[in-house]
Amino acid sequence: MTQVVETRKIDGRAESERLLGGLEARVEACRAGGKTPCLAVVLVGDDPASQVYVRNKGRKAAQVGIATRDHRLGAETSTEVLLSLVAELNADEAVHGILVQLPLPAGIDEQSVLLAIDPSKDVDGFHPANIGRLVIGADAYVPCTPQGCMWLLESAGILLEGKRALVVGRSNIVGKPMALLLTAANATVTVAHSRTKDLAAEVARADVIVAAVGRAKLIQGAWLKPGAIVIDVGMNRDEHGKLCGDVDYASAQGRAGAITPVPGGVGPMTITMLLANTVEAARRTRDGLPGAPDDALIRE
Ligand code: NDP
Repeated sequence: MTQVVETRKIDGRAESERLLGGLEARVEACRAGGKTPCLAVVLVGDDPASQVYVRNKGRKAAQVGIATRDHRLGAETSTEVLLSLVAELNADEAVHGILVQLPLPAGIDEQSVLLAIDPSKDVDGFHPANIGRLVIGADAYVPCTPQGCMWLLESAGILLEGKRALVVGRSNIVGKPMALLLTAANATVTVAHSRTKDLAAEVARADVIVAAVGRAKLIQGAWLKPGAIVIDVGMNRDEHGKLCGDVDYASAQGRAGAITPVPGGVGPMTITMLLANTVEAARRTRDGLPGAPDDALIRE
């Protein structure tokens, strides 16, 4: 007989609003010290999803008092023009965080743009210096989505030590940093990807699953170990055009111990972590600390 468990919803929207409340006070403290945290947002081209993300980020930033500077460039922008904008923003002391919205249009050298961002302003945590620091366990700006997932696990009271964790997906911005963070939290981590032979068997072994694939309802509830914790990063459209995750939320009910919904799970946390990183960047300069998480180590 199949074991039925009570499935708890991990509410990312509520957790995110709670954190934004705390952030507002920290922003106020920065402003009182004469430094308004400021995030420069660079959007190149007219990708509709990117436009929505950028609008949401701006709205949430305004909610907590963070200033934003929008730079919108046409899809025909050259790598050189974008690099010179990044150099300007690096040099601007009033800008604490720089976000270049991905994906960039084809024809722009994404790697050289990400490399050009000052690691001390890399609030997205995509610069190799920050990723490297994450690998060695040093203080770093951590990519926002995996950071948000970790926060949700912690706020839901999930103990990771000794647990079998499965990350499905190995992208640089979600899967890989997620696996690093879970390892640092003493979970035993497996990373699955498109060449994994038997995904269902991997899922069945896991106590904690983080799905970051981009395939609607790929992971079935019946695959889950009863009581497994599910963090669903995926943002997909189902056959009716409705937003859904990588995990089939309906069939996970009664099987998962806890699960994040889509929408209302990881998505809001990603933006909140971006804003938290921006406030942290402003605080570091306000307090006269080196520009980044231990800037010296990055530059030497
Ligand atoms: P990528 O496309 O960069 O990576 C997808 C990963 O999934 C790859 O590693 C790929 O494997 C793997 N994969 C593809 N098909 C399968 C399969 N059938 N079985 C197992 N693994 C598979 O995506 P991202 O990491 O950027 O994003 C993943 C999802 O998360 C997307 O839906 C995206 O929209 C969403 N997202 C949500 C965010 C949020 O804030 N909620 C933020 C960022 C992303 P391989 O490496 O072998 O190709």
